Amino acid sequence: MGSEAAETATQQTMDLYDAHVMGNYRRLPVVFVRGEGARLWDAEGREYLDFLSGIAVAGVGHAHPRVARAIAEQAATLLHVSNLYYNPLQGELARRLNALTGMEKAFFCNSGAEANECAIKIARKWGKQHRGPECHEIVTFHGSFHGRTMATITATAQPKYQAPFTPLVPGFVYATVGDLAELDEAISERTCAVMIEPIQGESGVQIVPPEFLGAIRALCDEVGCLMIVDEVQSGMGRTGKFLASQHSGVLPDIVTLAKSIAAGVPMGACLARGDAAATLVPGDHASTFGGQYIACASALAVLDVMEDEGLMDRAARVGSYLLAGLRSLADEWPERVAEARGVGLMAALQFVAPCAGEVRAALMERGILVNAVGDRILRMLPPLVIDESDCDRVVAALREVLATLA
Ligand code: PLP
Repeated sequence: MGSEAAETATQQTMDLYDAHVMGNYRRLPVVFVRGEGARLWDAEGREYLDFLSGIAVAGVGHAHPRVARAIAEQAATLLHVSNLYYNPLQGELARRLNALTGMEKAFFCNSGAEANECAIKIARKWGKQHRGPECHEIVTFHGSFHGRTMATITATAQPKYQAPFTPLVPGFVYATVGDLAELDEAISERTCAVMIEPIQGESGVQIVPPEFLGAIRALCDEVGCLMIVDEVQSGMGRTGKFLASQHSGVLPDIVTLAKSIAAGVPMGACLARGDAAATLVPGDHASTFGGQYIACASALAVLDVMEDEGLMDRAARVGSYLLAGLRSLADEWPERVAEARGVGLMAALQFVAPCAGEVRAALMERGILVNAVGDRILRMLPPLVIDESDCDRVVAALREVLATLA
């Protein structure tokens, strides 16, 4: 296709969206048609280095041949039977995820919000069963993000996600990350669980101090409530360990996963141990598509790829290299960069001025995809398959952009 024809095709795609798709996303004017590893190509043939991977979805990279083969073979064999029957893949996937996380039982669904809904339902039922009829409150944290369903926007302690949709779901209490006294105050005999992201991704890679996660575990043990860790964005090896919470040595009662679990095929998982793992019984909870064949086949291939290609160690190694590069920018431009932070391949650059949108756009012009969180934070969640030269390219481009900022 000639470049003019390609531009027309891009415009036609955008026009169709404007006419027929709801306007709940602020989309950038680009149409991606192909991916490979950490690279994407748009409809006009332009190549991009993807430092966002969906939003932490393409952990093993785009179109990984082993994942693609597993999906294609499964699609040609059997796509779906109801969860009224067994399928040969779900049990094996649950076994492997439980082994990697220290959990005992899994429930599969289709997204991060659904995984958190399941965790919330388990916590409420567990509270009533084990601690009495009033025990139903869940403590979550300011700045958190747990999804877009009614219960998970209520768990998400940020008014901007909640305001248009009130009344919210009752039974959520908010505390501040790092403030143990406030958390102590928030927890009562009505509390069935404390729910936290070890790294707040949507708030711009805000890293919860490992000792605070340890203090939550100790408090939960003291009062006898569950600890839920939302690893939807931070899990699946992104931080150099399978779960970000594993850096703190804390073992939660419930872990939620989604995003890169099946490399882009919709899947979420709620994993639990102990009494929490035995809480749901037939009739309590279900999902038509949860744990369906293609998602399980893709997720099993993802785990194989992660293991065989050493992607967790790679995320730790390349992530340190990236962070060193970002920190060098903070050292060079203290009047422009307030902080560089990250764990493994979950990283952010925080600016002094509200220029994140401008920097994101300037990187995109240079063929690099990142994302702006609010107006001062640039977030990077690259596929775990990137290498040091990819980091060099991004840091060099950022250096160039920082030099030209007004
Ligand atoms: N939890 C966390 C920590 C997330 O980052 C997200 C999505 O960004 C979600 C939950 C919701 O996941 P989903 O969009 O798959 O429902």
